Amino acid sequence: MVNAVHEKGFSKIPVRKASLLNAYTSSKSQESHVKGFRKSPEGFPRLSEPELVRHYYRLAKMNYAWEDGLFPLGSCTMKYNPILNEKIAESEKFGNLHPALDGKRAQGALRVIFETQEMISKLLDLPGVTLSPAAGAHGELAGVFMMRKYFESKGEKRNIILIPDSAHGTNPASAAFGAYETKKLPSDGRGLTDLEALEKMADENVAALMITNPNTIGIFEEDILKIKAILDKKGVLLYVDGANLNAILGKASFQKMGVDLTQLNLHKTFSTPHGGGGPGQGALACSHRLVDFLPSPVVECKSDGAKKRYEFITPPHSVGPIKMWYGQFSNILRAWVYLKSWGSSIGEVSERAVLNANYLGKKLEKYLNKVSEKPIMHEVVFDQKTLKEAGVTTRHFAKALLDRGFYAPTVYFPLHVDGAIMVEPTETENKEELDAFIDAVDDIFCKIKENPDSILSSPNNTIVREIDETLAARKPVLTWDQIGGE
Ligand SMILES: *Cc1c(COP(=O)(O)O)cnc(C)c1O
Repeated sequence: MVNAVHEKGFSKIPVRKASLLNAYTSSKSQESHVKGFRKSPEGFPRLSEPELVRHYYRLAKMNYAWEDGLFPLGSCTMKYNPILNEKIAESEKFGNLHPALDGKRAQGALRVIFETQEMISKLLDLPGVTLSPAAGAHGELAGVFMMRKYFESKGEKRNIILIPDSAHGTNPASAAFGAYETKKLPSDGRGLTDLEALEKMADENVAALMITNPNTIGIFEEDILKIKAILDKKGVLLYVDGANLNAILGKASFQKMGVDLTQLNLHKTFSTPHGGGGPGQGALACSHRLVDFLPSPVVECKSDGAKKRYEFITPPHSVGPIKMWYGQFSNILRAWVYLKSWGSSIGEVSERAVLNANYLGKKLEKYLNKVSEKPIMHEVVFDQKTLKEAGVTTRHFAKALLDRGFYAPTVYFPLHVDGAIMVEPTETENKEELDAFIDAVDDIFCKIKENPDSILSSPNNTIVREIDETLAARKPVLTWDQIGGE
């Protein structure tokens, strides 16, 4: 069988035998003039330290990391995560707390959860917040459970959730997991929600509209109040996927937009390292009418005279716990540090994120076709029109960026854009790094004209050349044994 990783250019990492050790142990039998020292080294490992360090260092260099440069992945908000947050998240004082410890003896941890809930509540301008969800999609699912219980409490049966064609894949998945039928809502020519279609589709069988704002092509749903008015006529809830909050931090009131439920991704917006399957962390926030349905537990603060006491409580009509213990605590801690560090100037994050995306958007227009004429927010989406005209595709473009020392943007998402290329620089990049990325794109377009084969055969400079993506997904090679190591 052909091995997916092996197939092209994956160099085997040599494990060298422990030559240094042999030198030590073979001297054992010889008489030494040094008296009183131990006869031979004790308990030496099979591999020497330099061998081990070099092995891991070599592996680390095969990776692309924050230390290397920009991660232009759109939708993911791959911002730089301050080391300070990591240091605090590592603290033994928090790390050694057992999750089953009585809340009375973990007041500091409960306070961190409470204050994070409060800061998120203020930022969104929504009264209810829980930090139980383990990630964004998990927050969506908890929100779907809340809708179900809310309508049951009113004696209403609704079985449909409307989802725009540009939605993140987790939205329909969460709705389906929560036993709702989903209906696809089309976008209009502007890349925004089609109001006429919404008017037709929103009826008494619909529980909610689930939209992302700013949406997945990086533009703000400017008709959000008209959308809300259409939904209100039929008692439909407005769920906003808040994974794109980085564009509007402290700038938009979710209450004024009429949002009933929204999940945030703390690992995207509030500086928890993510990617590679590391633990995420969600927040789920809601309007007044849904507060009593929040998953349990929620942390409340009670005052004992001058002293504050933090407690886990269960909201009166709670959908119940959605996760063992309480969220991913160390990620809540990172978010707490991030929010506290920015304080009331947190809006600057979004100002810079939007400025950076617009700078890139404007400069890259010379090469790529932007999918919307509307002003963009935190990310910019192109289709593959100009690439196809030049005889290549989005895939080649993304691989050619790898050859030029950059991580690739998000590609082929959203699905309704032909060969989508979605770039989100975030606020943490400076102009030099953005210019270097633009130069890389310029170089790709020059090479497409001068030497198209060099682009069609990309990637040429990476550790792993082009892999068989189908085989890699169907038969993943995940262990050393599978690669054929000893
Ligand atoms: C990332 C993302 C999600 C899902 O969040 P996870 O934490 O990966 O589960 C949902 N919607 C949008 C728009 C996203 O970008």
